[in-house]
Amino acid sequence: MQIVTDAIVLHAFDYLESSRILRMVTREAGVRSVLARGARRSSKRFGAALDLYAQGTADLQTKPGRELDTLSAFDVMRVRHQLAADLARFAGASMIAELTLRFARDVADPGLFDAVESALDTLSTASSTRARDAALGGAWRILLELGVAPSIDDCAECHAPIAPDQAAMFSHRAGGTLCERCSRLARAGRMLPANARGALRDWLSGEPHEVTDANEVRAHQRLLREFLREHLADDRPLSAFDVWERGTLDVPATVGGP
Ligand SMILES: [Zn+2]
Repeated sequence: MQIVTDAIVLHAFDYLESSRILRMVTREAGVRSVLARGARRSSKRFGAALDLYAQGTADLQTKPGRELDTLSAFDVMRVRHQLAADLARFAGASMIAELTLRFARDVADPGLFDAVESALDTLSTASSTRARDAALGGAWRILLELGVAPSIDDCAECHAPIAPDQAAMFSHRAGGTLCERCSRLARAGRMLPANARGALRDWLSGEPHEVTDANEVRAHQRLLREFLREHLADDRPLSAFDVWERGTLDVPATVGGP
Protein backbone atom coordinates (compact mmCIF):
# COMPACT_ATOMS: atom_id res chain seq x y z
CA MET A 1 0.00 0.00 0.00
CA GLN A 2 1.17 3.51 -0.74
CA ILE A 3 0.91 6.28 1.87
CA VAL A 4 1.68 9.88 0.97
CA THR A 5 1.92 11.90 4.15
CA ASP A 6 3.53 14.80 5.98
CA ALA A 7 6.52 13.43 7.87
CA ILE A 8 9.34 14.56 10.16
CA VAL A 9 12.63 12.65 10.57
CA LEU A 10 13.23 12.00 14.28
CA HIS A 11 16.04 9.46 14.13
CA ALA A 12 18.33 8.14 11.40
CA PHE A 13 21.05 5.51 11.21
CA ASP A 14 23.07 3.68 8.55
CA TYR A 15 21.84 0.33 7.33
CA LEU A 16 23.94 -2.17 5.38
CA GLU A 17 26.38 -0.65 2.92
CA SER A 18 24.38 1.99 1.19
CA SER A 19 21.08 2.57 2.94
CA ARG A 20 19.68 4.49 5.88
CA ILE A 21 16.83 3.68 8.23
CA LEU A 22 14.76 6.63 9.34
CA ARG A 23 12.29 6.80 12.17
CA MET A 24 9.63 9.35 11.35
CA VAL A 25 6.46 10.75 12.81
CA THR A 26 3.82 11.09 10.10
CA ARG A 27 0.42 12.76 10.03
CA GLU A 28 -1.43 9.87 8.35
CA ALA A 29 0.29 6.82 9.79
CA GLY A 30 1.86 7.72 13.15
CA VAL A 31 5.43 6.68 13.93
CA ARG A 32 7.09 4.62 11.16
CA SER A 33 10.44 2.94 10.58
CA VAL A 34 11.41 3.57 6.98
CA LEU A 35 14.15 2.19 4.74
CA ALA A 36 15.79 4.76 2.44
CA ARG A 37 17.41 2.37 -0.01
CA GLY A 38 20.65 3.54 -1.60
CA ALA A 39 20.52 6.77 0.34
CA ARG A 40 24.23 6.80 1.08
CA ARG A 41 25.27 5.89 -2.44
CA SER A 42 23.59 8.81 -4.13
CA SER A 43 23.08 12.05 -2.27
CA LYS A 44 20.91 13.24 -5.16
CA ARG A 45 18.20 10.72 -4.45
CA PHE A 46 17.10 12.02 -1.07
CA GLY A 47 19.36 15.04 -0.44
CA ALA A 48 18.48 16.90 2.77
CA ALA A 49 15.63 14.48 3.39
CA LEU A 50 17.84 12.34 5.57
CA ASP A 51 18.76 15.13 7.93
CA LEU A 52 17.46 14.97 11.46
CA TYR A 53 14.26 17.00 11.92
CA ALA A 54 13.75 17.56 8.18
CA GLN A 55 10.06 17.78 7.31
CA GLY A 56 8.21 17.23 4.06
CA THR A 57 5.95 14.93 2.11
CA ALA A 58 7.01 11.29 2.31
CA ASP A 59 5.93 8.62 -0.13
CA LEU A 60 5.90 5.32 1.77
CA GLN A 61 5.34 1.79 0.57
CA THR A 62 3.95 -0.37 3.34
CA LYS A 63 3.23 -4.08 3.56
CA PRO A 64 0.96 -5.67 6.16
CA GLY A 65 2.98 -7.44 8.84
CA ARG A 66 6.22 -5.72 7.84
CA GLU A 67 7.79 -3.42 10.38
CA LEU A 68 9.90 -1.55 7.87
CA ASP A 69 8.32 0.68 5.19
CA THR A 70 10.19 1.70 2.05
CA LEU A 71 10.73 5.36 1.29
CA SER A 72 10.07 5.99 -2.41
CA ALA A 73 10.42 9.75 -2.28
CA PHE A 74 10.68 12.56 0.24
CA ASP A 75 9.91 16.09 -0.84
CA VAL A 76 11.51 18.26 1.84
CA MET A 77 9.87 21.56 2.68
CA ARG A 78 11.63 22.44 5.89
CA VAL A 79 15.04 21.72 7.37
CA ARG A 80 15.77 22.65 10.94
CA HIS A 81 19.52 23.17 11.01
CA GLN A 82 19.12 25.81 13.74
CA LEU A 83 18.37 23.00 16.18
CA ALA A 84 21.97 21.82 15.97
CA ALA A 85 23.40 25.31 16.43
CA ASP A 86 22.69 25.44 20.14
CA LEU A 87 23.21 22.73 22.75
CA ALA A 88 20.07 23.51 24.76
CA ARG A 89 17.94 23.48 21.60
CA PHE A 90 19.48 20.24 20.42
CA ALA A 91 19.03 18.51 23.79
CA GLY A 92 15.40 19.67 23.87
CA ALA A 93 14.72 18.41 20.34
CA SER A 94 16.34 15.05 21.16
CA MET A 95 14.08 14.72 24.21
CA ILE A 96 10.98 15.58 22.13
CA ALA A 97 12.01 13.00 19.51
CA GLU A 98 12.59 10.35 22.18
CA LEU A 99 9.18 10.85 23.78
CA THR A 100 7.47 10.69 20.40
CA LEU A 101 9.29 7.59 19.17
CA ARG A 102 8.89 5.77 22.45
CA PHE A 103 5.23 6.42 23.18
CA ALA A 104 3.39 7.26 19.94
CA ARG A 105 1.79 4.46 17.91
CA ASP A 106 1.74 3.59 14.21
CA VAL A 107 -1.74 4.99 13.56
CA ALA A 108 -2.89 8.32 12.12
CA ASP A 109 -2.70 11.06 14.74
CA PRO A 110 -2.81 14.57 13.25
CA GLY A 111 -2.94 16.21 16.70
CA LEU A 112 0.25 14.49 17.78
CA PHE A 113 1.97 15.36 14.50
CA ASP A 114 1.03 19.04 14.93
CA ALA A 115 2.31 19.02 18.53
CA VAL A 116 5.70 17.60 17.46
CA GLU A 117 5.96 20.03 14.53
CA SER A 118 5.13 22.98 16.75
CA ALA A 119 7.57 21.89 19.48
CA LEU A 120 10.46 21.62 16.99
CA ASP A 121 9.58 24.94 15.33
CA THR A 122 9.44 26.75 18.67
CA LEU A 123 12.75 25.19 19.72
CA SER A 124 14.40 26.11 16.40
CA THR A 125 14.06 29.81 17.11
CA ALA A 126 14.33 29.76 20.91
CA SER A 127 17.23 31.55 22.57
CA SER A 128 19.48 29.44 24.81
CA THR A 129 17.65 30.76 27.86
CA ARG A 130 14.19 29.95 26.45
CA ALA A 131 15.07 26.57 24.95
CA ARG A 132 14.25 24.72 28.17
CA ASP A 133 10.80 26.15 28.70
CA ALA A 134 10.13 25.68 24.97
CA ALA A 135 10.99 21.99 25.35
CA LEU A 136 8.90 21.69 28.53
CA GLY A 137 5.91 23.20 26.74
CA GLY A 138 6.38 20.92 23.76
CA ALA A 139 6.64 17.82 25.94
CA TRP A 140 3.48 18.57 27.92
CA ARG A 141 1.59 19.26 24.70
CA ILE A 142 2.74 15.89 23.32
CA LEU A 143 1.59 14.15 26.52
CA LEU A 144 -1.81 15.81 26.09
CA GLU A 145 -2.03 14.38 22.55
CA LEU A 146 -0.98 10.98 23.89
CA GLY A 147 -3.98 11.17 26.22
CA VAL A 148 -2.20 11.53 29.56
CA ALA A 149 -2.45 15.26 30.38
CA PRO A 150 -2.65 16.16 34.06
CA SER A 151 -5.60 18.12 35.44
CA ILE A 152 -4.57 21.61 36.55
CA ASP A 153 -7.80 23.48 37.31
CA ASP A 154 -9.98 20.66 38.63
CA CYS A 155 -9.27 18.17 41.38
CA ALA A 156 -7.97 14.94 39.83
CA GLU A 157 -9.95 12.93 42.42
CA CYS A 158 -13.31 14.67 42.95
CA HIS A 159 -13.31 17.18 40.04
CA ALA A 160 -13.96 20.18 42.30
CA PRO A 161 -12.63 23.39 40.72
CA ILE A 162 -9.40 24.81 42.17
CA ALA A 163 -8.91 28.60 42.00
CA PRO A 164 -6.13 29.45 39.50
CA ASP A 165 -4.30 31.75 41.94
CA GLN A 166 -3.88 29.03 44.60
CA ALA A 167 -1.03 26.69 45.29
CA ALA A 168 -2.24 23.11 45.03
CA MET A 169 -0.92 19.64 45.69
CA PHE A 170 0.03 17.68 42.59
CA SER A 171 -0.32 13.91 42.78
CA HIS A 172 1.27 11.84 40.02
CA ARG A 173 -0.73 8.82 41.06
CA ALA A 174 -4.07 10.70 40.91
CA GLY A 175 -3.06 12.41 37.63
CA GLY A 176 -2.92 16.07 38.56
CA THR A 177 -3.74 18.71 41.14
CA LEU A 178 -5.91 17.96 44.18
CA CYS A 179 -8.39 20.14 46.08
CA GLU A 180 -7.66 20.81 49.76
CA ARG A 181 -9.93 18.05 50.97
CA CYS A 182 -8.46 15.37 48.69
CA SER A 183 -4.88 16.52 49.32
CA ARG A 184 -5.38 15.86 53.04
CA LEU A 185 -6.19 12.26 52.14
CA ALA A 186 -3.42 11.82 49.58
CA ARG A 187 -0.41 9.82 50.65
CA ALA A 188 2.11 11.55 48.40
CA GLY A 189 2.26 14.73 46.42
CA ARG A 190 4.19 17.84 45.62
CA MET A 191 3.01 21.38 46.29
CA LEU A 192 2.74 23.36 43.08
CA PRO A 193 2.83 27.15 43.50
CA ALA A 194 0.20 29.09 41.53
CA ASN A 195 2.79 30.26 38.98
CA ALA A 196 3.89 26.68 38.27
CA ARG A 197 0.23 25.75 37.70
CA GLY A 198 0.01 28.75 35.36
CA ALA A 199 2.98 27.49 33.36
CA LEU A 200 1.43 24.02 33.01
CA ARG A 201 -1.93 25.54 32.05
CA ASP A 202 -0.30 27.61 29.27
CA TRP A 203 1.85 24.74 27.99
CA LEU A 204 -1.06 22.31 27.85
CA SER A 205 -3.06 24.81 25.82
CA GLY A 206 -0.14 25.28 23.39
CA GLU A 207 0.86 28.73 24.68
CA PRO A 208 4.45 29.72 25.46
CA HIS A 209 5.32 30.39 29.09
CA GLU A 210 8.66 31.84 30.08
CA VAL A 211 10.52 30.13 32.92
CA THR A 212 14.11 31.30 33.17
CA ASP A 213 14.89 30.79 36.86
CA ALA A 214 17.19 27.75 36.97
CA ASN A 215 15.55 26.31 40.09
CA GLU A 216 12.08 26.62 38.60
CA VAL A 217 13.24 24.98 35.37
CA ARG A 218 14.69 22.09 37.36
CA ALA A 219 11.48 21.71 39.37
CA HIS A 220 9.48 21.57 36.13
CA GLN A 221 11.87 19.02 34.61
CA ARG A 222 11.56 16.85 37.71
CA LEU A 223 7.75 17.09 37.67
CA LEU A 224 7.69 16.07 34.01
CA ARG A 225 10.08 13.15 34.63
CA GLU A 226 8.01 11.86 37.56
CA PHE A 227 4.78 12.21 35.58
CA LEU A 228 6.25 10.33 32.62
CA ARG A 229 7.44 7.54 34.86
CA GLU A 230 4.02 7.21 36.49
CA HIS A 231 1.94 7.33 33.31
CA LEU A 232 4.00 6.19 30.32
CA ALA A 233 7.48 4.92 30.96
CA ASP A 234 8.41 1.27 30.79
CA ASP A 235 11.63 -0.08 32.30
CA ARG A 236 13.82 1.25 29.52
CA PRO A 237 15.79 4.40 30.36
CA LEU A 238 14.92 7.67 28.63
CA SER A 239 18.48 8.60 27.76
CA ALA A 240 17.81 11.78 25.76
CA PHE A 241 15.52 12.97 28.55
CA ASP A 242 18.31 12.40 31.08
CA VAL A 243 20.83 14.33 28.98
CA TRP A 244 18.36 17.19 28.58
CA GLU A 245 17.61 17.28 32.30
CA ARG A 246 21.26 17.01 33.34
CA GLY A 247 22.22 19.80 30.93
CA THR A 248 20.51 22.29 33.19
CA LEU A 249 22.91 21.40 35.99
CA ASP A 250 26.05 21.99 33.96
CA VAL A 251 28.05 24.93 35.13
CA PRO A 252 29.90 26.73 32.31
CA ALA A 253 33.64 26.05 32.46
CA THR A 254 35.72 28.97 33.67
CA VAL A 255 38.68 29.81 31.49
CA GLY A 256 41.93 29.75 33.45
CA GLY A 257 40.13 28.87 36.70
CA PRO A 258 41.86 27.92 39.94
ZN1 LIG B 1 -10.93 16.78 45.43
